[in-house]
Amino acid sequence: MSGSEAETLFERIIGGEIPADVVYQDETTFAFRDIRAQARVHVLVVPRKRYRNVAELAAGDPQLLSDVIATARKVAELEGILESGYRVVFNTDEDAGQTVFHVHAHVLGGEPLGLFGAPEQD
Ligand code: 5GP
Repeated sequence: MSGSEAETLFERIIGGEIPADVVYQDETTFAFRDIRAQARVHVLVVPRKRYRNVAELAAGDPQLLSDVIATARKVAELEGILESGYRVVFNTDEDAGQTVFHVHAHVLGGEPLGLFGAPEQD
C-alpha cells in the first residue's frame, strides 16, 4: 500500500459507506458503475487492497493485477459485451486525469468507442 492512510473514496464504496451500483464482487476485487458514464457500459474495477496506481499494483502484487483483469472480463461477460469488445483503461497520474488514487480499471463498451489520447479541447 502507498500514499496516505486516509480512506479513499473507493474504500468507502467497497465498505458500503457510499452507495454504488455494484456489478460484481469477489474476494479480491469489486466492480461498480461509474457515476459519470463515458459509454453505455462504464464500470470501474477496483482491487479491495489499495495501491496508488497500476504500476504500483503490478510491482506489489502481480496476482492481484491479474485478478483485476479477470474481473474486467467477467464484467464484460455480465454486461453482454464480450463479443462486441471492450476497452480497459488505467489512468495514471495528472495528465491522464487520475482523480482517485486507489488503482481502478475503467471497463468501457456497449457501443463503438471514439478515439482516445487526444488533448482536452478548451
Ligand atoms: P479516474 O479519473 O481517477 O481515472 O477515475 C475516477 C472515476 O471515478 C471517474 O470516472 C468518476 O466519474 C468516478 N467517480 C467519482 N466519484 C464517484 C462516486 O462517488 N461513485 C462512482 N460510482 N463513481 C465515482
